[in-house]
Amino acid sequence: MKAKRICSILLAAAVLFAALLPVCAADKTYRNVIIMIGDGMGENHLHLAEQYGHTLFMNTQFDLRGQSRTRSMSHDITDSAAGGTALACGVRIINQTVGVYGADPLGAFVCPASFTEVAAEHGMRTGIVTTDKNNGATPAAFSVHVLYRKQYEKISQQQLNTTFDLIWGAEDGYVTPQNAAEHGFTFVSNKEEMEALKPGSRSFGQFSGEFWRAVVPEESDAPSLAEMSVKAIELLNEDNPNGFFLMIEGAHIDKSSHRSQKRRADFDNKRESVVDAVVGFDNAVRAVVDFARKDGHTAVLVTADHETGNLTLSPRDEKDLARLQVQKHSMNTLSSMLRKQMEERQDVLSWDEIKDFLGEELGFWRSLKIDWEDEKMLRDIYEQTLAKRKSGSVKDLYADNDKIVSAAVGILNKRARVFWVGSHSACYTPVFVIGAGAEQFSHKTDNAQLARDIMRVAGYR
Ligand SMILES: [Zn+2]
Repeated sequence: MKAKRICSILLAAAVLFAALLPVCAADKTYRNVIIMIGDGMGENHLHLAEQYGHTLFMNTQFDLRGQSRTRSMSHDITDSAAGGTALACGVRIINQTVGVYGADPLGAFVCPASFTEVAAEHGMRTGIVTTDKNNGATPAAFSVHVLYRKQYEKISQQQLNTTFDLIWGAEDGYVTPQNAAEHGFTFVSNKEEMEALKPGSRSFGQFSGEFWRAVVPEESDAPSLAEMSVKAIELLNEDNPNGFFLMIEGAHIDKSSHRSQKRRADFDNKRESVVDAVVGFDNAVRAVVDFARKDGHTAVLVTADHETGNLTLSPRDEKDLARLQVQKHSMNTLSSMLRKQMEERQDVLSWDEIKDFLGEELGFWRSLKIDWEDEKMLRDIYEQTLAKRKSGSVKDLYADNDKIVSAAVGILNKRARVFWVGSHSACYTPVFVIGAGAEQFSHKTDNAQLARDIMRVAGYR
């Protein structure tokens, strides 16, 4: 009896949720909708890029600016899975889950449809473009339904089973040329292959290298996020009276803003990486808005799924700001340069040589006064790592060079007074919208409402 009652309550809940599902209306205001997500992008991330001397399209070319609160159903601070789902489906759910209702986390009865799925069902072309792995939380939110965001294989499998026209991002380890072909996708892994794609084709992109940077490093053959965005729009738009839905994510604003050591190792100098990722995303926004303004039938929403780092900018004066400019190379590049010096020497570098290197590259002991505590910390790291390396094995020689570079850049960050207080935060995120009806977005809103509103304005109901 009791089981029966629970069953009927769940069924009633399922019917209620089904009623909330978005349905396309015939009288759409826009033919095309593009949602752009700067993962982890708060107001201060934009401000930091401006302190670095970049004039951002986002900060100068939108007439209106709103703000979004990004909480999830379970937490005031959302993760990317629930934050992405709020923007993809217009519903708040439990952290770590992807595209499943909080009351039905297994998706046993009904899942909230993402706008991508709604668009695909209605004959529109659909695309997902990201600098993250394709099975990362944000692209997953726009394409699949899983209980846990780290079910990577399941996410890739569900993505292969979609009818989407393109899914492009970083290598995810699961999608191969073979299984992509079996599911009707052309597999592309570099810029040349991507550029060769023709409208009407379906493609799975798996790019490698640091293509999230504003300028893609020479050693990578991947396209930049802006190039991916332009090509995706071309493929989705040409000879297509039905319109398209496209999600574009700049994932590395978030990745460069996390506090943990692991993240720091992955994305080196966070300050420089954050600026690079913001500018890379901003370039994509510029390209997309250029298209939308010419097209006249495209709605564009630019926002973030949450802020990352509680990024704090508190330079005391212009001198502190000037310290931001001292560093000319990323932490990765600095480590490579130090390694090269060691290889050329085939021996241990002396402390004076290390001091020279840090002076040349970061202004230490030259334009920047280094107090004795910081010098002692650097010296201790040197003694414990580099000084112990004996000549012979090159691997041994440079094994720990990044530790001293990392500590030195940390000192620079501290002096410039740029802090990351934690990981994700509850800070409001910026909202930019273009097109008719954009004035409805120049106020404070929240993530799920924002998504429902943009789709309402665009004619999805
Ligand atoms: Zn995120």
